Amino acid sequence: MKDLTGLFQSLGLDPATLAGGAHAVRSPIDGSEIARLAPDTPGDVGAKVARAQDAFAAWRRVPAPVRGELIRLFGEELRAHKDGLGELVTVETGKILEEGKGEVQEMIDICDFAVGLSRQLYGLTIASERPGHKMMESWHPLGPVGVITAFNFPVAPWAWNFALALVCGDPMVWKPSELTPLSALACRNIFDKAAARFGAAPDDLLQIVVGGKQAGEALVDDARVPLISATGSCAMGRAVGARVAARLGRSLLELGGNNGMIVAPSADLDLAERAILFAAVGTAGQRCTSLRRLIVHEEVYDALLPRLKSAYASVAVGDPLDPGTLIGPLIREAAYDKMRATLETVAGEGGAVFGGERVLAGELPGAYYVTPAIVEMPGQTETVREETFAPILYAMKYRDLDDAIRIHNGVPQGLASCIFTTDLREAETFTSGVGSDCGIVNVNIGPSGAEIGGAFGGEKDTGGGRESGSDAWKSYMRRATNTINYSNELPLAQGIRFGDDS
Ligand code: NAD
Repeated sequence: MKDLTGLFQSLGLDPATLAGGAHAVRSPIDGSEIARLAPDTPGDVGAKVARAQDAFAAWRRVPAPVRGELIRLFGEELRAHKDGLGELVTVETGKILEEGKGEVQEMIDICDFAVGLSRQLYGLTIASERPGHKMMESWHPLGPVGVITAFNFPVAPWAWNFALALVCGDPMVWKPSELTPLSALACRNIFDKAAARFGAAPDDLLQIVVGGKQAGEALVDDARVPLISATGSCAMGRAVGARVAARLGRSLLELGGNNGMIVAPSADLDLAERAILFAAVGTAGQRCTSLRRLIVHEEVYDALLPRLKSAYASVAVGDPLDPGTLIGPLIREAAYDKMRATLETVAGEGGAVFGGERVLAGELPGAYYVTPAIVEMPGQTETVREETFAPILYAMKYRDLDDAIRIHNGVPQGLASCIFTTDLREAETFTSGVGSDCGIVNVNIGPSGAEIGGAFGGEKDTGGGRESGSDAWKSYMRRATNTINYSNELPLAQGIRFGDDS
């Protein structure tokens, strides 16, 4: 691994504080240890929540457009640190530099969105049935928000939460993945610069918790945290959702996907091929929105598959810091073991496996680089219905659109989906209420790489949460319905008479 001292220092990460702790941080690029941090105990987590409550008491009094000014400054600081933070994301996750920087761009975009939003936290006025009365809804800050994030997108999903929560008046306690805490600490340092320029921000608007499941559970169980926003596997979401529900808190869950693409007979195969490549092999298949299931009409299957295989065979796998690379490493050995085991299982279920071999093992024995795999399946088996977080693309044939939609929707997850077709009827059917059952439904564009302007999230086992654009901000506020009587009478709703003879 190259010397990271300069990179760390540019992001305010003091090498002295990155050594000596019990929590080792490794880079998947070569498996080397790049930091040792002191993990937070459950007691530390509780103390951070208490400080977040103090911050909330002050921050909720600041007018929302003024809160937006702090996020505007944060966006400026992110612009200044885009290259450095993007590189750190690459070092910690193994995604290629272009994607690391793209993640930071997404943070900048959501900051811009949130600045505008800070002047648009609109409520409703509602017609009252009573004379001389007015009804309205108003939105108020909710309280400290607990955020738990996954390793594969270590900064952008956090920023979707943070930029919105902050303009909504909520401080945040953030537990990043135990695999990517340095990116989180760098984000806090960048935010601290914006807060220093802003001047009047209370302390502790953003605190980081270092640790794994145990630290996450301490945050999840803390009744002083009204909202837990958690991104990760369906198994994690099941555990977190149940614990938050047990204390009657709110949860916002962004969980695993098993994303499909239907390629119809009329599809533009050039477009489809490029979209498949980016969505299935980008980020080494480690996106929640990665393309995992390709459902191809039997008329075009034999034209598409050989093209895909030749594109797969020529894709550059290697050091994600090298600009020529398209696929970096898997995050760790366990991910590689899971990929190999899955490929063996699907081969036993009748799948014909192409690719999926480990490469560079001689030069980099502590890193796990693989060629992406295509598995031609006779049908959608139980293994295909699971999310394997690796670059495996299952290809299946279909005969008519109803059949394709049934296969497409026949999985537990419901995150992202798409159809490639130039037939208006097919496109509209897929995006209609009887089409895809996912939260993201695209036409002639792959399932991954969403823009921040739309609400992001999925249905079924993906958890039902929505983050980022549209009206996702409402999750970070509480709603009050107000009825104001400006008359001299006291009429009751529904015309009820109560001790009143007149
Ligand atoms: P993971 O579930 O292993 O961990 C995610 C986070 O949850 C980590 O911070 C982890 O420490 C924490 N955690 C785990 N168990 C917990 C518990 N019981 N209580 C509290 N916290 C707990 O996921 P991962 O391997 O880091 O990420 C990959 C998964 O995340 C994939 O399934 C992927 O699809 C999903 N993901 C979803 C989205 C989305 O927006 N829908 C985005 C990114 C990743």
